[in-house]
Amino acid sequence: MKWEPLAKGEHSLLNLAQRQEVKLVSACLIGVNCRYNGENKLSDEVMKLLEDGELIPICPEQLGGLPTPREPSGILNGSGEDVIDGKSKVYNAKGEDVTENFIKGACEALKLARSYKIKDAILKQQSPSCGCGETQQMKYENGKYINCPIKGDGVTAALLKRNNIRIATEEDL
Ligand code: SF4
Repeated sequence: MKWEPLAKGEHSLLNLAQRQEVKLVSACLIGVNCRYNGENKLSDEVMKLLEDGELIPICPEQLGGLPTPREPSGILNGSGEDVIDGKSKVYNAKGEDVTENFIKGACEALKLARSYKIKDAILKQQSPSCGCGETQQMKYENGKYINCPIKGDGVTAALLKRNNIRIATEEDL
């Protein structure tokens, strides 16, 4: 995509938002190695969207201060909505409480969406942060923390939805 320099006095973020359709995207879907295992989930369908507009990559777990690679995480007894409402927590596979990181990452993603006046996001399905309709649950069984898919939204997806941002996943494309 060709980059056009700004005229003097133009506001860069507003200019970007007005010029093209802009969406947030889970960074792992466009090839950034930000997943818990240090890998990505590059999606050809998502990359095709770059032909029609701008994608602003976010990784809420990194934005929340977690390292890469990191332990996989899941929501204990609830959904992303419950985490935002303080009714549930996020734990990693070592049993560490990472709820604050997940909430901070979701807030940073929302801040970016507001800065760019973004109304749409393409997020990675089945993530405890980005999942929309399917997320990761953390269960404590036989002395171990085990994560597995469950219906519901991740923490970032839930916060973005609550703020009227439409969400699709790579599976919807
Ligand atoms: Fe991808 Fe979202 Fe997980 Fe980051 S938090 S690795 S963007 S699914």
